Amino acid sequence: MSDQADKRYPREIEIPGELISQLRSASKVAALTGAGISAESGIPTFREAQTGLWARYRPEELATPGAFQMNPRLVWEWYTWRRELVANASPNPGHLALAAMEQRIAGFTLITQNVDGLHQRAGSGERAPVIELHGNIQRIKCFDRGHQVESWEAAEIPPCCPTCGSLLRPDVVWFGESLPPQALQAAWDAAGACEIFFSIGTSALVEPAASLPIVALQAGALVVEVNPHETPLTPSAHFNLQGPSGQLLPSLVRSVWPN
Ligand code: NAD
Repeated sequence: MSDQADKRYPREIEIPGELISQLRSASKVAALTGAGISAESGIPTFREAQTGLWARYRPEELATPGAFQMNPRLVWEWYTWRRELVANASPNPGHLALAAMEQRIAGFTLITQNVDGLHQRAGSGERAPVIELHGNIQRIKCFDRGHQVESWEAAEIPPCCPTCGSLLRPDVVWFGESLPPQALQAAWDAAGACEIFFSIGTSALVEPAASLPIVALQAGALVVEVNPHETPLTPSAHFNLQGPSGQLLPSLVRSVWPN
């Protein structure tokens, strides 16, 4: 792991020996990440208060089809701001640690609720694609028919689909929308088949992703939560690594594979 983690977090966290030995011998591991893993890259989670221009809105009021239909300009502009935030952010040591884990464990599956693409920018997805449950903020599609669009007329806000003329929107899953069925099935399969399941930086509240650790638990996997705060999953997890993932995941990787 890079020394960046050590400089930011001088105190090395003790990782339980039982977890280290289980991870060293595991051949199938799945990890589910949420907005918390990107918090240390400067991308606000949905539970944090928004700042600046957007301070008076709650994300739950902007990230819905109804909000877009009512005020498409407002929702498009919010996503333009978020897209720029993501484009200017960099993966943090937590993202890098998961990319390192993928290199060490042949049967490693990374499932994310994040739409920021930071896992891929950290190097994840080389062996098996990152499963994006909620889409990707950098992709754009049209509202009516879902046509994928590569470029658009920037002067129009929001711009229109060159194929059918309907309004363009980000290709993310909004509250109240269904998840891409193939991604959800792949995530479900990985949760049911793994020996160790990590739930990292997620409030474990947004369904159906919140059920994935439960699927893993019921299938007999060891469940590990990485989060500075308690969640509904905390009492059921076998290990609770309480703290920021940008500190804990590099410590974990260093402890399991010291060389
Ligand atoms: P959430 O906002 O509901 O919860 C974030 C969780 O991260 C909390 O439990 C918090 O305690 C934890 N956390 C905060 N800082 C952390 C850190 N440094 N290390 C580890 N954990 C930390 O996020 P969610 O559970 O992912 O669900 C909300 C929805 O919001 C998701 O569907 C996701 O698509 C979307 N979202 C995505 C992004 C992104 O792509 N970066 C950002 C905001 C929201």
